[in-house]
Amino acid sequence: MLEVKDLHVTVEGSEILKGLSLTIKAGEVHALMGPNGAGKSTLSAVIAGKDGYEVTQGSITFEGQDVLEMEIEERARAGLLLGFQYPVEIPGVKNIYLLKAALNAQREARGEAEIAAPEFMKLIKDQLAFMRMDGSFLQRAVNQGFSGGEKKRNEILQMLVLQPKLAMLDEIDSGLDIDAMRIVAEGINSLRAEDRGILLVTHYQRLLDFVVPDKVHVLVDGRIVKSGDAQLAHELEARGYDWLLEESAA
Ligand code: ADP
Ligand code: MG
Ligand code: MG
Repeated sequence: MLEVKDLHVTVEGSEILKGLSLTIKAGEVHALMGPNGAGKSTLSAVIAGKDGYEVTQGSITFEGQDVLEMEIEERARAGLLLGFQYPVEIPGVKNIYLLKAALNAQREARGEAEIAAPEFMKLIKDQLAFMRMDGSFLQRAVNQGFSGGEKKRNEILQMLVLQPKLAMLDEIDSGLDIDAMRIVAEGINSLRAEDRGILLVTHYQRLLDFVVPDKVHVLVDGRIVKSGDAQLAHELEARGYDWLLEESAA
């Protein structure tokens, strides 16, 4: 589904990703871990098409399409979706309108008609209940006055509504208490599907107790230095990242 090959990325003149390769098949959940500053967020941002990143070498393909040739909106419409790490506030725009606009943009791109209001309300109410979110949430301006946990749950809500083919979540677990973590994890688990890939970017192993990944990759200084199964995350929890730094330097 997603194939990243020998990716080199420069941000403001310095090379952040230094030859990263990663393949995600449909149906798989991958966790990308690694120390702060390794380039984890850079990878998901480059895949999603955010500004400010220069790809100097390598390729990214998604379902056979050259992602680097696609505009950010095209990527979203193709089903590549990145949740926001620190979602911005959009004063005056109600959450419900943003969700509906995003869904309709996706439908339009597929040649489908706009979703009917009752159908949308049913869809969103079901997902809200699933995320244990209050209906008043929809009427609030996007992220305005949302607590950290609410922002994260809103991020998952967006994924549940938009049903991306590849869902990328960057530090969805940061700042969550254990109850919010469980709800977020349930949301992610319900996103698991045979035709969907999920990339979880996370610094900590805790989320991976609730969402068991098929593959775990460790990113250190712009390269994946180790890949394994869910067990690798436990090993990192116990041993930290330093041993890998030494291994990769050797
Ligand atoms: P991680 O998510 O693994 O903590 P990042 O991808 O956020 O790492 O950052 C990797 C490196 O790139 C860091 O050294 C960071 O300072 C640098 N970096 C990331 N984004 C920018 C930016 N917009 N401008 C300058 N440097 C950046
Ligand atoms: Mg990051
Ligand atoms: Mg780096």
